[in-house]
Amino acid sequence: MSDKNNFIPVCEPTLGELEKEYLNEAYDSNWISSGGSFNERLEDEFANYCGVKHGVSVSNGTTAIHLAIKALDLKPDDEVIVPNHNGIYGPYALFYEGITPVPVDALEGNWNIDPNLIEEKITERTKSIMVVHMYGHICDMDPIRFLADKYNLSIIEDAAEAHGAEYKGSKAGSFGDIATFSFFANKIITSGEGGLITTNNSELADRCNYFKNQCFPMNGPRNFIHSDVGHNYRLTNIQAAIALAQFRQIEKFISLRRAVNEAYRERIEEIKGIKFQTEESWAKNIFWMTGITIDQELTGFSRDELETFLSDQNIQTRRLFAGMNRQPVFKKQGINLSDNFPVSDFLTDNGLYLPSSSHLSIEDIDRVCNAIKSLI
Ligand SMILES: *Cc1c(COP(=O)(O)O)cnc(C)c1O
Repeated sequence: MSDKNNFIPVCEPTLGELEKEYLNEAYDSNWISSGGSFNERLEDEFANYCGVKHGVSVSNGTTAIHLAIKALDLKPDDEVIVPNHNGIYGPYALFYEGITPVPVDALEGNWNIDPNLIEEKITERTKSIMVVHMYGHICDMDPIRFLADKYNLSIIEDAAEAHGAEYKGSKAGSFGDIATFSFFANKIITSGEGGLITTNNSELADRCNYFKNQCFPMNGPRNFIHSDVGHNYRLTNIQAAIALAQFRQIEKFISLRRAVNEAYRERIEEIKGIKFQTEESWAKNIFWMTGITIDQELTGFSRDELETFLSDQNIQTRRLFAGMNRQPVFKKQGINLSDNFPVSDFLTDNGLYLPSSSHLSIEDIDRVCNAIKSLI
């Protein structure tokens, strides 16, 4: 592991014996489709963990967002507030339905959507606010809930990076009308590909199940009569088995990711010009990834130089997301963003995340930090 030339990936899954055991159980049951018992167990336990009533497992985090939008019955020409500093996934799901994403700049510090900039973007067409808890840090939900109530908007929480993250003691996935998670291989818990929706609203949960299941009638005979356009967004029993095994170790994974972040801070936080994503007093950041920004004036090297330098030493990093204002697909969808997004532009141009696997060793963290120090 600590061989000097060994490749350190930016993130890889942490898989063990429990995953193998549940996987075998699923296999031996002969249920390799979405039937079998693991989906239900995963849905119930995960929803319970988030403090909500309903869980709906799905094929990935992007289909989870798409179903959330369908469940809320958002319509073409509606507008939805989204963070400008964001992955493309939520805006994609909106584009699938002809809905217009309206980006809002990020906060310095925790890198989430700036609640103070939301109200000026609300129009008569706005129907919802999609918050995204970036890199494991939950958004400041009180002012966002205040605006949602004031303008009668729903809240969609994209919690794909924030399993177990907390706001004032409550968990991500419990603040929105509906919330979505991803179980992609680099997320806090994984099933390779996979995802899950949480909600307290039984009608929304029913609608998610309906659209996820090719719009087969929910109750009544399976007679191949379909009233709406559906999808097959189901998670297989095999994937759910891995996800459940991972979920049962979630507290361990969260404390490992937090420990990785702390080890990086201890070693390089004092370097002038390197800034870490913060953890607000009201938040528990689960540090899905340990993100930093580089201020070249102070460090003497740029983010791009650091990226190349580490890559040459077999250390993989990843740039922070490119802002929605930089996405050609927005232009192709007819959305021309004239506003400035100074914070998110800074993150796009100067941010990266360091290797952040849950099982990353102290030797590897030392190697990464010593490499960074040697550049100073
Ligand atoms: C990973 C991710 C998704 C998408 O999840 P997939 O399972 O890859 O489809 C959505 N939103 C955010 C913020 C993510 O990081």
